[in-house]
Amino acid sequence: MKLQKPKYIFVTGGVASSLGKGIISASVARLLQARGYSVTIQKLDPYINVDPGTLNPYEHGECYVTEDGAETDLDLGHYERFTSQPTSKANNVTTGKIYQHVIHKEREGEYLGKTVQVIPHITDEIKRRVQLLAQRKEFDIIITEIGGTVGDIESLPFVEAVRQLRYQLGACETAVIHLTLIPYLAASGEFKTKPTQHSVKTLLENGLQPDVLVLRAEKPLAADMKRKVALFCNVDANAVVESTDVPSIYEVPLLMQRQKLDEVILQKLDLPMGDEPDMSRWAEFVEKVKHPKKTVDMALVGKYTELPDAYKSIVESFVHAGTMNDCRVKLHYVNSEKLTPENVSEKLGKMGGILVAPGFGSRGIEGKITAIHFARTKKIPFLGICLGMQCAVIEYARNVLGHRDATSTEMDPTTKHPVVNLMEEQKGVTAKGGTMRLGAYPCTLQKGSRTYDAYGTEQISERHRHRYEFNNEYLAEFEDAGMKAAGVNPETGLVEVVEIPEHPWFVGTQFHPEYKSTVKYPHPLFGAFVKAALTNLH
Ligand code: GLN
Repeated sequence: MKLQKPKYIFVTGGVASSLGKGIISASVARLLQARGYSVTIQKLDPYINVDPGTLNPYEHGECYVTEDGAETDLDLGHYERFTSQPTSKANNVTTGKIYQHVIHKEREGEYLGKTVQVIPHITDEIKRRVQLLAQRKEFDIIITEIGGTVGDIESLPFVEAVRQLRYQLGACETAVIHLTLIPYLAASGEFKTKPTQHSVKTLLENGLQPDVLVLRAEKPLAADMKRKVALFCNVDANAVVESTDVPSIYEVPLLMQRQKLDEVILQKLDLPMGDEPDMSRWAEFVEKVKHPKKTVDMALVGKYTELPDAYKSIVESFVHAGTMNDCRVKLHYVNSEKLTPENVSEKLGKMGGILVAPGFGSRGIEGKITAIHFARTKKIPFLGICLGMQCAVIEYARNVLGHRDATSTEMDPTTKHPVVNLMEEQKGVTAKGGTMRLGAYPCTLQKGSRTYDAYGTEQISERHRHRYEFNNEYLAEFEDAGMKAAGVNPETGLVEVVEIPEHPWFVGTQFHPEYKSTVKYPHPLFGAFVKAALTNLH
């Protein structure tokens, strides 16, 4: 950190949702990092759930887990993948969290008989949360992404809090970036700026003048179109930048850099331009993503296959791992509910590798076990994550140890062979949301195992999100039969990694390696898995 106190950047969105505010925020952060500033990004989500931990992935995509065990929005995954800067509980705040805190204070009598209201009490709490990251005295710049679209009823208190904060902190202490859509009307062959003008008007009605506009468009926009937007929206012409559709999200920081977005923002914040930014390694990474030398087919077996966002971190980890191996990982989403012993060969027979995804509940479980049986017996490289690892244990118990009824007590609490069992500390936990074994825990790897070879070190730390674990009463039986515990928690003995040394590459992890793969540090386990899959090309 080089500044006495941090500056704030707010990122809002208009016209439509899903324009990529998370990617823009992460790209800005990355560019400012390249100029020597330490940056963190926070997401404010307008929904009333306290956190996304209880949300079905179809509602909101993957639930991303931080080092300190917060269950958060998937945009935090983008922040970490772009910046390699770990996020924390403080980096994701929802309306639910804000209200929970305010109502708790009210019940404690802290408002001294006053009427508790959206303004000032809710907005005060929003401002406190925005500034909480400043207390760590680590960051020069705090970027706050506001979820939803300007004009939504539910995001109004957030926009109002930003307005107040901007006024209270004074000139040049904050900058507002507004991301909008410039639709293209094919029939008339024109781009249309009107929705953007309206969206900026809505922001203005709420008391916020954006400093920078990022225009999302299918194709490059003419300079006079940007000048027109600048004129209508009281924004400097050089502060209107375009974000055209690109084949890889990792190109966006380079696209923004070419338009000098970092310089424009630093000017608005009255900050020195800092170091000469060196994005050459990033550009090399993007080159590798765009021009792979070969392709490997990989199956992703899970039950949320209709929505790739449900497995966002896994998908991105494969992009990173591809660059480590000069290849493109072509993912094939295989719905575990539709996978049977009859069709498994047709669906998985041509794959270089098979990944069985994390998950909850019994739906789709038999299909996952079928996929694992196929990977194990046909010697196809396999990675099972969390539930995927637990299913590998179940498959082995059933088909190698001969315990035909073996399962996890999550699926059948009365099973005679509970090879995967509810963790002791979870017994008696009934509350949902933030109650699983969450976040980073250490793991000691067995020298000579595939996992050890991938990491090149014995002591690792990875993130978790589970209630069930390998039942250690069966450990000796598994190991005698050929499935080994290749990694355990050094304090509790909880099995973190299982492997079959006889198999070309068969690894199951209780932890989630996908949460820690970044552009700068592609994950070694995914790298090794893709490498194994490449050698298995048919
Ligand atoms: N449902 C399993 C458990 O709770 C696995 C969780 C997961 O895959 N994230 O242990």
